[in-house]
Amino acid sequence: MRAKATGRVLHDPKGGSFRFDAGAVCLDFAHTGGEGRYAVFETLHEEVDLGEWLAQPPLGAVMTVPVTARELAAAKALRQAIWDAAHARAAQSPLPAEAVGIINRAAAEAPLIPELAADGTTAGWAPPVRATQALSTLAREMIELLSGPLSERIRECASDNCPLVFVDTSRPGARRWCAMERCGNRHKLRALRARQATDP
Ligand SMILES: [Zn+2]
Repeated sequence: MRAKATGRVLHDPKGGSFRFDAGAVCLDFAHTGGEGRYAVFETLHEEVDLGEWLAQPPLGAVMTVPVTARELAAAKALRQAIWDAAHARAAQSPLPAEAVGIINRAAAEAPLIPELAADGTTAGWAPPVRATQALSTLAREMIELLSGPLSERIRECASDNCPLVFVDTSRPGARRWCAMERCGNRHKLRALRARQATDP
């Protein structure tokens, strides 16, 4: 897994899309949809959708065993747990016990097994590659994130009504926005208008 290659294009159901880099694959995964008011953002409708998401970089876990309905349900439960845990940490609140339990149970499964190719310079995942293993790898990454030095860098976008959550992996650690092209520019525009309104 190459940590530097995180980020996905998110689509707004009302139209438009933007690139969002949550800074960790597990956090990118937390933005593939959700429950309740986030159900309109769902992208994992079918088992095959989960397989396609996992197959993309940086994970690149191309399933050699078809994703099952049970794995899709487990993926959505893990996604919600990662989302809940990230928001709790960003708000400096205790993590919900249910989320911790779901993440730990997913991590207890065997993870993806790295395999060096015969040329000795490229690596993939040893078959059979199952969704349960990929979910374990994501859950383990989340555990490392929550218990590691970047834990304090988990933040919600600074925009008032934007719930996107990310880990700031930048050296200065001053990231505020989900994406500059989305909330960052909106904020700059508002600040500019406010300045113009108060200028004599
Ligand atoms: Zn935002």
